[in-house]
Amino acid sequence: MKALVKSRADVGLWLEDVPEPEPGINDVLIKIERTSICGTDVHIWNWDEWSRKTIRVPTVIGHEFVGRVAATGSNVKGFDVGDLVSGEGHLVCGLCRSCMAGRRHLCSHTQGIGVNRDGAYAEYLCIPMTNVWGADERIPLDVLSCFDPLGNAVHTALSFPILGEDVLITGAGPIGCMATAVARHAGASHIVVTDLLPERRALAKQLGATDAIDPRERDLADVQRELGMVEGFDVGLEMSGSIAALHGMIDNMCHGGKMALLGILPSDAPIDWQKVIFNSLEIKGIYGREMYETWYMMTMMIQCGLDITPVITHHFHYTEFEKAFEVMRSGRSGKVVLDWSN
Ligand code: NAD
Ligand code: ZN
Repeated sequence: MKALVKSRADVGLWLEDVPEPEPGINDVLIKIERTSICGTDVHIWNWDEWSRKTIRVPTVIGHEFVGRVAATGSNVKGFDVGDLVSGEGHLVCGLCRSCMAGRRHLCSHTQGIGVNRDGAYAEYLCIPMTNVWGADERIPLDVLSCFDPLGNAVHTALSFPILGEDVLITGAGPIGCMATAVARHAGASHIVVTDLLPERRALAKQLGATDAIDPRERDLADVQRELGMVEGFDVGLEMSGSIAALHGMIDNMCHGGKMALLGILPSDAPIDWQKVIFNSLEIKGIYGREMYETWYMMTMMIQCGLDITPVITHHFHYTEFEKAFEVMRSGRSGKVVLDWSN
């Protein structure tokens, strides 16, 4: 089968012929229909320090996908050939304390598909049945291919109650923009989004931001005043990975404000801990999605009108993956979808 492979320790990805994976008794073989490109895939393309440490070559990469069941292992129940499915990209051990308690998103031995084992940028993907999510046929394939990052947005945005609350979202990348739509759908009051790029601020506004600002040009305290806010943001969603953005957030939270951090901040980023302590801020780190409550919530919200389609800005056939990655690497796109149908 054709697959996009990190086949050597160098910048780029290569379209190659690799053996089709064979499902074990608990596995589901999926014929891929669409994949979408994640920032992680761009890191792997760029062969940066993180990917040099993490990826062994050769690995088929990719973890955001939708497809149809092509075969099932003898032990698999609940999935039949032809079913439309997406899937959770984090494989958990099933045995640690968190897994045993049903908190699989907190597994201490998580493995990533398309990172630690072969992934979805291929004609076929094979994963355990416990990672397969039965998809709703009424949801467009391009949207289903984005369920993994939409799940990051949903998990982060719904980490704290946001009904009637003022929300600050730093970073209007694809995930920040999807979180904006989720926060709007979930009944947030003001949603202020920050980003350095005008295209991304425009997208955030399209997805329901009350205002989208360049933090280098406008002070968040002024924005609060203009909106009639007096005590600071109730909930902050950090989705840029920028320490400047995190500092801006800490400075603009209300006392007792709640912050969910998804963006990958530098390990040694300094923080004014006295502001955190004296303002009684609550900070939660977010990794991945909840299995499978997040998947349920995103399906239901989309069925009830949550629209993330403006975030999907480009669509290419997989043979045009070089163009697709070029667009993605420019940092000026939303989600870029690859079509694996023939
Ligand atoms: P992205 O890189 O496309 O978006 C980040 C955005 O932040 C960009 O639009 C950028 O212009 C903006 N930005 C940079 N500096 C800023 C600043 N000072 N203030 C405001 N905005 C600023 O990334 P994405 O795909 O939308 O993902 C968002 C973040 O979440 C990334 O850091 C990504 O690595 C991380 N992530 C984490 C998880 C997890 O499980 N924790 C999963 C997926 C992605
Ligand atoms: Zn576990």
